[in-house]
Amino acid sequence: MKTLKVPNTYDISLSGAPSLTVSEFLSVSQVAVLPSTISHLKPKLTVKIGDSVARGQAVAFDKLSPEVKLVSPVSGTVKDIVYGQKRRLDAILISCSGDAVETHSSYTKDTLNSLDAATLKQLLLKSGLWPSFVALPFMGLAPAEGDVPAIYVAVNDDEPFAPHASVVLKGKQDQFRFGLAALKKLSKSVVVSAAMGNEIAGTALSDVVDVLVEGKYPANQPATVAYNAKPDATHNKAWTIKCQDVIAIGEFLSTGVFPNTRVIALAGPKVKEPQHMRVTVGSPIKDVVAGRCDDSVALRYIAGGVLTGRNAGLDSYLGFNENAINVLQDEFDSEFMNFVGLGPKKATYSRAYLGAAMGAKKWDYHTGVNGSARDCVACGYCAEVCSVGILPQFLMRNVVAGDVDESLAHGLLDCSECGLCTFVCPSKIELTDMFVSQKTALLEETR
Ligand code: SF4
Ligand code: SF4
Repeated sequence: MKTLKVPNTYDISLSGAPSLTVSEFLSVSQVAVLPSTISHLKPKLTVKIGDSVARGQAVAFDKLSPEVKLVSPVSGTVKDIVYGQKRRLDAILISCSGDAVETHSSYTKDTLNSLDAATLKQLLLKSGLWPSFVALPFMGLAPAEGDVPAIYVAVNDDEPFAPHASVVLKGKQDQFRFGLAALKKLSKSVVVSAAMGNEIAGTALSDVVDVLVEGKYPANQPATVAYNAKPDATHNKAWTIKCQDVIAIGEFLSTGVFPNTRVIALAGPKVKEPQHMRVTVGSPIKDVVAGRCDDSVALRYIAGGVLTGRNAGLDSYLGFNENAINVLQDEFDSEFMNFVGLGPKKATYSRAYLGAAMGAKKWDYHTGVNGSARDCVACGYCAEVCSVGILPQFLMRNVVAGDVDESLAHGLLDCSECGLCTFVCPSKIELTDMFVSQKTALLEETR
């Protein structure tokens, strides 16, 4: 087992970490499939309003790789189809009823061993679980064609707040091992990483862990591990997958049925009792959070982690890869003459406020940014937290100038889209969004 010390990591010390208890919230009357939350997917419908669908039945596919299916997490009826700007397919709403299930072949350890890689790939493509794979360097849907240079599996997710590995793996270790065995048929190089000091890596699963990772966020994100541990450039196009998705693959292969529940974290400063919840895939956010948040103030509901998640709103649903709902105060009133105060109650990366002396304090962050984006002040903080060695302040200039060649030379494709540079920037420049936009434009040109 190797150890990996990841440079330039940072803990934002957000309050509202989820407890390790898990409550069940599986009874929903309606769910949604959200194609627009899967990066680089170009969806096409296979159903229309009023159609009956079974759990695991395809409701859409990717136009560029029609083998990649999105499936209904439940048995029910297509209630509505929601389009966004430019007729982008945003949501397929399904009202739950009945117990129809689409089944596939199931496997034991022995029959999986004798399964060839091509058949396994076809099975996963139509399983509805294919979007669990995120392909580097564009951080989107994995290609259906071609070899898989490597798959990086992260046991831990250190973004605030994602589900804790010990909760996700509780009672699911056999399924995790089974899913891992399947991944090893897809790629000759499967790299499993776990956080140093994590009790899971140190005991029951220590035999499957290849890399022990030391560092704060985003050290344990699989894209960061891939950048810092890759043996050569072939891994620049590696795929990544999260622990819970490996479990889902194991469950699918052992039962032949789409696994339609996931553990999520319901967390953040404005959640009354931050916790883990087992929910149905595609659950309505308003149902999951009902009565569980301090709604005496305006709230922002983030689907996913606070640094990379989606500003979902209360009326949205959980996307396929979104494993958390984090709730922060929204619309913070600006403070009169705030620049003359010492700021003892303010979090600070730059140590500009007295809050820097508060040691291990956890902070009730809100979404206010004290005004609009300002000019870059060349402080260099963004580079101090970039775990893949980019100098974001210089990369930003190339992106603004539209100079793709220079952006590539400055490491655009190494960006793991962790969001930390944006977070620490005192000028509140949306650095990560700029990098993601240029990466997406570059990908579109090559497709
Ligand atoms: S450039 Fe920013 S978003 Fe990209 S990896 Fe570095 S810190 Fe993260
Ligand atoms: S953190 Fe923001 S202001 Fe500071 S150098 Fe980077 S982009 Fe410029």
